[in-house]
Amino acid sequence: MQYKYYLIGILGIGLVGSVSLAAPAVSKRKLDYAFKKLALDIPIRVLLQENKLRDTKWVLGSDEGFVVYTPSSKKKTIFTRTGVTVTYANGAFFINGQKQTGSHFFIMPLGGLISLGPIKYDGVFSVTKVKGTAYLVNHLDLEEYLQAVLPYESYPGWPDEVQKAFCIAFRSYGISKILEQRARNNWPYPYDIKNTNSHQVYRGHEKSACFKRIVEATRGIVLSHDKKPILAMFDIACGGVIPARKKGVHFDKAPYLERKYPCHYCKEHRFYRWDTAYTFSELEKGLKKIIPRLGRLRDIKIGSFDAAGVAQNIRVRGSHRWFNIKASTFRNQFKKLRSLCFNFAKNGRKVTISGKGHGHHLGLCQWGAYFMVKKGWDYKRVLQFYYPNTTFMKLSRMP
Ligand SMILES: [Zn+2]
Repeated sequence: MQYKYYLIGILGIGLVGSVSLAAPAVSKRKLDYAFKKLALDIPIRVLLQENKLRDTKWVLGSDEGFVVYTPSSKKKTIFTRTGVTVTYANGAFFINGQKQTGSHFFIMPLGGLISLGPIKYDGVFSVTKVKGTAYLVNHLDLEEYLQAVLPYESYPGWPDEVQKAFCIAFRSYGISKILEQRARNNWPYPYDIKNTNSHQVYRGHEKSACFKRIVEATRGIVLSHDKKPILAMFDIACGGVIPARKKGVHFDKAPYLERKYPCHYCKEHRFYRWDTAYTFSELEKGLKKIIPRLGRLRDIKIGSFDAAGVAQNIRVRGSHRWFNIKASTFRNQFKKLRSLCFNFAKNGRKVTISGKGHGHHLGLCQWGAYFMVKKGWDYKRVLQFYYPNTTFMKLSRMP
């Protein structure tokens, strides 16, 4: 396959310049090891912790100690102990009780990996103060990050061709987030992406060879639209819902999510169509948390759907009047619902809720992709089905 190449020079976090190696008792080899970790090929900054300054207490580990590096002053401090605790008091950060100058510095392992509590991480950590908040961020190479994201955001044991499609989607999503955050003048935060499912789940170093193989096989490949990596969203099963008909999505900004044809490839999955049931009293109990003045629940129905069949509002009749609530608020309260594409069927005091799909019905449908590959599709065909009007590109360093 022929790729066009991205120039990623703009992503460089900058090499650290000349650093004096005057610290006693630490070999140049160990310092080189630490600073090499800082000079990443394609760095991604993943948020691990954010808290009020005074609540800062991060316990970090490394088998061979740490070097703390402050870019603004080029100062570096060696900690030979295998554990350090970062705290904040009286306007400054402290490491093992030693005051640090500056509101942004790196903590890098002198050997092996760095850990936060029981979890080990690739790359290095940074500590940053922004207004009243302290941020602990993991800087690591995008490809190492993908290796760690794959096991949590995909299904271990699935065929390689599906994993490759996921990996390219996750890489595109990651790089799109990196570019988006760094292009924003008003983005004061020291990270590109969160480590939770609001972005992509990330739980530190992943050493399993099977995910490494997938990342290597697709190294640097992203999907792009208009020469930019796409924000490649994905859900578990789309249920045949046509994304282009969804209301409230900014397709002008993300035309590659405006798929105008359905995916039925996920139809063998149990959430392609799903049913769940609640009694009136169960619904009443949950609804009272949203509508304190509800009284007794008399009736419930969908207020409106969009053209895709996704519920927008729910009408709820209480003791004295009707109330209107957002469908998303309703779903947050009733966790058995797999998506917002649903309807009610009432039978006496029981309400059956029937729906389509599991997730938000945008982008790649994971179970659809699985069944496509079972039918013999390759990852390129899968991705181009789910993200129309996109091309494959490859990330490359600026010459
Ligand atoms: Zn599907």
